[in-house]
Amino acid sequence: MPEESIKVAVRLRPFNQREKDRNAKLIIKMEGKSTFITDPKAPYDEPKQFSFDYSYWSHDGFVELPSGILEADNSLSPYASQQKVFDDLGRDVLKNAFDGFNCSLFAYGQTGSGKSYSMIGYGVNRGIVPIVCDELFHEIQNAKSPSTRYEICLSMMEIYNEQVRDLLNKEFPKGGLVIHQHPTSGHFYPQGLRIVPVGTYNDIERRVTEGTENRTIAATNMNATSSRAHTVVTIYFDQIIKDDRGETKKTSVINLVDLAGSERSSSTGATGDRLKEGTNINKSLSTLGNVIAALAEMSSGTKRKLVVPYRESVLTKLLQNALGGNSKTVMIAALSPTDVSHDETLSTLRFADRVKRIKNTVVVNENPIE
Ligand code: ADP
Ligand code: MG
Repeated sequence: MPEESIKVAVRLRPFNQREKDRNAKLIIKMEGKSTFITDPKAPYDEPKQFSFDYSYWSHDGFVELPSGILEADNSLSPYASQQKVFDDLGRDVLKNAFDGFNCSLFAYGQTGSGKSYSMIGYGVNRGIVPIVCDELFHEIQNAKSPSTRYEICLSMMEIYNEQVRDLLNKEFPKGGLVIHQHPTSGHFYPQGLRIVPVGTYNDIERRVTEGTENRTIAATNMNATSSRAHTVVTIYFDQIIKDDRGETKKTSVINLVDLAGSERSSSTGATGDRLKEGTNINKSLSTLGNVIAALAEMSSGTKRKLVVPYRESVLTKLLQNALGGNSKTVMIAALSPTDVSHDETLSTLRFADRVKRIKNTVVVNENPIE
C-alpha cells in the first residue's frame, strides 16, 4: 500500500501591537524551505536550521486592501497570504477528498501564534477551513455529473480536560461523550456525536458559528480569547457514483483540527484549577507528542519494537487515522516571531520536525453498494 509522509508547513505571524510597542526582536528567518531560529540568549551562535515542505513568511511585506484583506505587497519581501496558503494546502485537501482519500489538517503552536488565523481566519481574511468548504460546494456545482450524487455531513466537537463535548448539541452529559471503539474497524468514535447533513456552504458556516459559540472559552494570561481546548471539525464527504454495473460509494472523512496551545501551563501563569486543567490538556498534547515520537522512530526503520500510545489520550484515539493511519495529513505549525517566545517556538519547530518523518498508509475509500 502506498506510503506517504505527513506534509508540514510552518507559518510566521506579524508582530502584534504589544510586541511593536516594546520593540520586540525578530528571531526567525526563512529562506526557501528553510527556517532559522536564533537564541536571544546566545545571539552570536549559529542559528538552528529546520527544513519543511512549506515555509510561510507572513510576518511583514503585506498591504491591507480597502476590503480588509491582507495581501502580499510585491515591492517588499514575499508575504504568504491566506489565499497562498489555501492554494498550496487547501487545494490538495479538496483534490484528495474528491479522489476518495481521508484528509486531516491540523494546526499546532503556542497560544497566540496564529493557529486559528490559518485554520478559521478572522473576518474577511478567511482561513483554510471556510475556503475549503466553500470550494467543495463550488466544485460539486461545476461537476454537475448526472451519474454522481453527493452527500455531505458535518460534526464539530471539542476536547477539553480529556472530555469530549459535542459543539452542535447544547446538552452536555456529565463527563462528556463516551469514546467507543468500533468492533470491526477498531476506530474510536465519540458515541452520540451529532452528525448533521449540510447542503450548502451557508449551512456549514451556520453550523460552525453555532459550534464556536458553544465552545468553552477559558481565559489565560497569554490570550484572553483563546480556547484551551482542541477543536475538531469533521466533514464526511460521500460520492455515490452510478454506472451500468451498479452503484459505488467513494467516501472521504476530512478532519480539521485546531489544537489547544502547546505552551506548558507554567508559562501562562496558570495556578490551581487552571493548572489542573492544563495538566489534562497537556495529557492529550503530550500523548500526541509521544505518538508522534514513536511513529517518527518507526519510520526511521528502527528494529526496536514500539507501541504507539494512541490509547493514552482522547485526542490521539480520535486522531489515530490522521497519524500513521489511512489519511493524507497536513500540519501547520504556527510560529511566534519574538525573542520571548524562543523556547516555545524552538519546541514547536522540533515537534514539526518529527511530524514530517511520519509515514501514513493511504488508500482510496471506494466500495460497491450492495
Ligand atoms: P492562536 O489561535 O494560535 O491562539 P491566533 O490565530 O488567534 O492565535 O492569532 C493571534 C493574533 O495574531 C490574531 O490577532 C491574528 O489576527 C494575528 N495573526 C496570526 N497569524 C497571522 C497572519 N498570518 N497574518 C496576520 N495576522 C496574523
Ligand atoms: Mg486559537
